Amino acid sequence: MRAAVLRGEREVKLEEVADPYPGPREVLVRVRAAGICGSDLHVYRHLRRMRERTAMVDPVILGHEYSGDVIGVGSEVDGLRIGDRVVVDPNSACGECPTCRQGGVTALCERLRIYGSAFAEMAVAPSRNAYRIAPTSTHDDASYTEPLSCVLRALDLVGAPTGRTAAVIGCGPAGLLFVQMLSLSGATRVLAIARRPASLLAAKRMGAHGVIDATTEDPGGRIAEVTRGTGAAVVIDTVGSRETTLLAAAVASRGGSVCLYSLPPADEVSFAAWHIFEKELRILGANRNSGTFGRALALIESGRATPGLLTSRTIGLDDLPDMLSLLGAGGGNGRSAIIKVVVHP
Ligand SMILES: [Zn+2]
Ligand SMILES: [Zn+2]
Repeated sequence: MRAAVLRGEREVKLEEVADPYPGPREVLVRVRAAGICGSDLHVYRHLRRMRERTAMVDPVILGHEYSGDVIGVGSEVDGLRIGDRVVVDPNSACGECPTCRQGGVTALCERLRIYGSAFAEMAVAPSRNAYRIAPTSTHDDASYTEPLSCVLRALDLVGAPTGRTAAVIGCGPAGLLFVQMLSLSGATRVLAIARRPASLLAAKRMGAHGVIDATTEDPGGRIAEVTRGTGAAVVIDTVGSRETTLLAAAVASRGGSVCLYSLPPADEVSFAAWHIFEKELRILGANRNSGTFGRALALIESGRATPGLLTSRTIGLDDLPDMLSLLGAGGGNGRSAIIKVVVHP
């Protein structure tokens, strides 16, 4: 089959590789839609560092947010058949490590296996991780189930800010999904902070009550003004830079929560210790889904979540190397109008 293989940092080549073969409890999926995620770009840029930190198997094929058609089933699979349309939860906990036995939290499994490799014509996944999608659902929409499920997990951890203000720093795809879910959660206001005009516009479309352009406005000052000095009960930082973590703790309300939700661009970030102490802040991290995949799919299929609005471009596998190089470069004209790219391999 054809696949986009990551051979080195910022080096993706279209190659002919061996077809994947499903194990007894796995299904073989013809990938129809696979979103490019910020974490794909992170591995694309920092392959060496990620190899040291995570177990990566060669050849490295990125892509983990995907939906497709079942074209093969293992001998012990029942419940799924060839022809079923499915979306795959790539995060598979072992169920046996000490952390799994204690709490069953997928995100914390010590031997978590990621079934990605979706920037290819075919991929395999455990059948228990494949969710059948409704006949009315499109593969494009379903491919957003994974990122939305990770956002729901983060919101499970921070708690819904019903009747209070929430702020989202950074409006890439994840930030924008937070904006929509926080507005659905009963927050009185959701304030979105971003730098790109396309992001600010998308934040409004996803239900932000106020958008703050960080290139021309002072986000801290604006949030203080809008909340009459109270601050935001929930602050989600989807950027993870020194500047944004400082801002997050500064604009959080007394007793508020700050969620770090990004693969941090730097190894260390900063908080003003006084803010954490004085306001008794809860600082927490969230890194992937856990028990939230079915809920995310239900939100998409009911039309309550509309992630499809974020798709700026759909491309074929042939255009993927150039697109990754454009998105991976950061900034720049070509990238500035793009929110989310979905690949049709
Ligand atoms: Zn992702
Ligand atoms: Zn485990």
